[in-house]
Amino acid sequence: MSDSNQGKLIVFSAPSGSGKTTIVRHLLKQEDLNLEFSISATSRAPRENEVDGKDYYFMDLKEFKNHIKNDDFLEWEEVYKDNFYGTLNAEVERIWAMGKHVVFDIDVVGGLDIKRIYPDRTLAVFVEPPSIEELKIRLKKRKTESEDRIAMRVAKASIEMATAPQFDHIIVNENLDKALEEAHQLVKQFIN
Ligand code: 5GP
Repeated sequence: MSDSNQGKLIVFSAPSGSGKTTIVRHLLKQEDLNLEFSISATSRAPRENEVDGKDYYFMDLKEFKNHIKNDDFLEWEEVYKDNFYGTLNAEVERIWAMGKHVVFDIDVVGGLDIKRIYPDRTLAVFVEPPSIEELKIRLKKRKTESEDRIAMRVAKASIEMATAPQFDHIIVNENLDKALEEAHQLVKQFIN
């Protein structure tokens, strides 16, 4: 790729527990795809083992709101009360300037916003669990969340699933190896 005008945007969105992060991590390791992960900005506090500038660009609410005022974001959202998340235009520029394509692991609203802003340069992929029942089982197996929070995520998943038809492509993650291969082929076709 010779100039940043050819850089693409690859969005993966999905309900929590559908395997989207596993797919994105796999794609980042594929050298033929030439992808770089978009690091989001957030006003939430870092979790233990999260690194600033790697997992997120952590900032306080005041700094985040300043960026909103200055029109620095490609998209942003208040995902939870006072917890803002967003993609800085500078992040996309940074990756395009490296001669790479940008890959996003963000929620459905942010993902569709990016598709709306850059309709031709964006491949928006929705990763779907085989069923809501299966999603529940996977979230329970993870053992990272309380029953309440699992119920909350499952309820949110039903709403998110309704947005799937607005994406360019839906990958049903029934068999992980197949889903990884399908994702690889889709991105490869899109960037070529
Ligand atoms: P967490 O706090 O668990 O890291 O993320 C919470 C939610 O924020 C997830 O659904 C995640 O996909 C979403 N998120 C992370 N980065 C961004 C972003 O840049 N923009 C938007 N719209 N959502 C994001």
